[in-house]
Amino acid sequence: MRLSRYFLPVLKETPREAQIVSHRLMLQAGMIRQASAGIYSWLPLGYKVLRNIEKIVHEEQIRAGHIPMLMPTLQSADLWRESGRYDDYGEEMLRITDRHGRDMLYGPTNEELITDIFRSYVSSYRDLPLTLYHIQWKFRDEVRPRFGVMRGREFYMKDGYNFDLTKEDALHAYNRHLVSYLRTYERMGLQAIPMRADSGPIGGDDTHEFLVLAETGESEVFYDSAVTDLTFGDREIDYDSVEQCQSILEEFTSKYARTDETHDEAMFNAIPEERRRVARGIEVGQIFYFGTKYSDAMGATVQGPDGKSVPVHMGSHGIGVSRLVGAIIEASHDDKGIIWPEGVTPFHCGIVNLRQGDAEADGACEALYKALTDKGLEPLYDDRDERAGAKFNTMDMIGLPWRITVGPRGLKNGVVELTSRRTGESEELAPELAVARIAEIYSGV
Ligand code: ATP
Ligand code: MG
Repeated sequence: MRLSRYFLPVLKETPREAQIVSHRLMLQAGMIRQASAGIYSWLPLGYKVLRNIEKIVHEEQIRAGHIPMLMPTLQSADLWRESGRYDDYGEEMLRITDRHGRDMLYGPTNEELITDIFRSYVSSYRDLPLTLYHIQWKFRDEVRPRFGVMRGREFYMKDGYNFDLTKEDALHAYNRHLVSYLRTYERMGLQAIPMRADSGPIGGDDTHEFLVLAETGESEVFYDSAVTDLTFGDREIDYDSVEQCQSILEEFTSKYARTDETHDEAMFNAIPEERRRVARGIEVGQIFYFGTKYSDAMGATVQGPDGKSVPVHMGSHGIGVSRLVGAIIEASHDDKGIIWPEGVTPFHCGIVNLRQGDAEADGACEALYKALTDKGLEPLYDDRDERAGAKFNTMDMIGLPWRITVGPRGLKNGVVELTSRRTGESEELAPELAVARIAEIYSGV
């Protein structure tokens, strides 16, 4: 993309409404625009990051054997009356009446709708296990929408639902989700720690939230600092293996890590003092096992091997896709702007032309642009007739992890400059080598 032809409405002033850094930077970098309280338009740069996150979530869900589909945003109130949640959900639910006087609602989550689909088609244990998921907009009429996309009213979420014959099978589905989530967040350059949590309106006994540590997080968290040493890495996972998924769950959840809802002072005090941490975190996902709560209420049963009809065991699992855009920025920025992890960056690298209009510099930039594009990479070429300082500031603010700077002086010696946004370190090298280096970096992402 050439910046002169792109739509990147970077703000010059610091937006006053932003209380936290991710919100401020998303507004300044022209990623989002508020449409009304807690509801945002995703401008081109923000939309690219949202899509990159969504793609990782899909890839990891499919890898774990979960099946993508799509349910609507508007749901019929009748289904929610069956589960009893139409009344329980309270004011967070946006209720709508259509022209025929039918009660509808903008879905805050989808347990009822998916259970209805399940009971309409599945009647035998032979069709289990089954995990269906979708990535769809949700609406929760939050009392205090704030922090930009972090606590919106309309937000984008992956929600998945497992259906199993027995509790053991459903707990394997739970573990499988925990493992796949660990991998998902790491691919986005994030450490998200699974913490024992409270189940809230979803219901159920077993639940973990995934938290990204950040000062601006809304949850208070208590943990053993040893959990932050754990990394998932690129392990080979057999998602059908009960033992393997169970052992990874144990590895990642045996150290103390809880949110304030389930915090246990005595257990916390049993951790060696130098490893006790009280901090704040951003919830980027949650998994639940809730047994037969919805299948009992809505009659979702299957015929077991012995011919008897039994309610299915279920769980649900959510990832806050739009919140993640903000959470990644909270975890990865400096005073100049965003620093995108390679896994989610909107463009793979920037090209800055220090002397726009100079035939040699222009030609070198065009050649770089073509070479990168030919390798399947997407550069953002700042081809505007601007001062170098202004170009650098824009690049630093929008946070592309790599920048190639092209100027007449370097070109005389046959070199361009390759700069890492994260470390600030620069290196002079021939243009072909800069292209090869960037291609190599992204080949592992
Ligand atoms: P919270 O405690 O932050 O209100 P929740 O526990 O009610 O969230 P879940 O039902 O677990 O949310 O939804 C799954 C994920 O969706 C959450 O982990 C979070 O990342 C995201 N999410 C929930 N509410 C919002 C919101 N208002 N804006 C953006 N993302 C949200
Ligand atoms: Mg939650």
